[in-house]
Amino acid sequence: MARDSFLAIGECMVEMAPEADGRYVMGFAGDTLNTAWYARRLLPATGPGGWRVGYLSAVGTDAISNRMLRFIEDAGIDTAHVARRADRSVGLYLIELDRGERSFAYWRANSAARMLAEDGAALAAALAGARLAYVSGITLAILAEADRARLLAALAEARRAGCTVAFDPNLRPRLWPDSAAMCAAVSAAAAHADIVLPSFEDEAAHFGDPDPEATARRYGAAGARLVVVKDGPGTITTQADGTLARHPAVAAASVVDTTAAGDSFNAGFLAAHLGAASLAEAVAAGAGLAARVIGQRGALVEAG
Ligand code: ADP
Repeated sequence: MARDSFLAIGECMVEMAPEADGRYVMGFAGDTLNTAWYARRLLPATGPGGWRVGYLSAVGTDAISNRMLRFIEDAGIDTAHVARRADRSVGLYLIELDRGERSFAYWRANSAARMLAEDGAALAAALAGARLAYVSGITLAILAEADRARLLAALAEARRAGCTVAFDPNLRPRLWPDSAAMCAAVSAAAAHADIVLPSFEDEAAHFGDPDPEATARRYGAAGARLVVVKDGPGTITTQADGTLARHPAVAAASVVDTTAAGDSFNAGFLAAHLGAASLAEAVAAGAGLAARVIGQRGALVEAG
């Protein structure tokens, strides 16, 4: 099978977002889906070197699951590797706005996506066509331990066969029993990744890194050939094959909603990196996209 897909692995949820009049608008989002959504807009779909963009997940068989799948397909993302489970449905989160401060409530504990790594043969089949597999710490967090191990083994096998593995640690302590379990699982996954895309603030909080260089070195030591450390509006630090570098941030014209800043950065960076871009150009592409995304409301914005 040709390795021609950018395969994101994780959970898409129903999003309920408040409008100014107090009503809620329904959408669909999730960290890995957001990255796939932006990657689909950036990677060439046809011609030599064209990419398929696919999503590996699980949803229910009910109407809302069907609607989510349609949404993903309408975005040009292949859903052949989204499993259907009659016994479960999709997760949901609701955004609360209190004087401009956003908070989130989640109903995802029993979502179908938690079963996405149940079937080793299905994982292997999906990864056989992947030129790049993209996973996050949230993907890991929602899985039972045995399923997490199965996913990492499948990624390791795919990597041996020529697939590049990209990983955003996306540290979310609420999804883990405790910080130590989270850090252990994320470190184990990073050892299976070629490219690690952490956010410094989270890494400092949970791993105690004193500066972004320390984060880059730590993931480099775990085995990643390329580490890109995001730092909100700050400079971006990379370590490529052992060499540290700093790259300028891209100023946002306005900061309206930082949702999916990191997810869109990752898509912009990876799409450029998978093309002919230099490391500096790929970082600039990621930061440029993220700066535009945070200038508008919502995770998925047509950012040009
Ligand atoms: P996350 O949203 O995952 O926590 P970060 O806060 O590290 O990620 O931000 C990811 C990227 O988004 C940054 O590398 C930067 O390119 C962009 N970004 C985030 N906040 C700002 C900001 N205030 N101004 C400009 N760019 C920003």
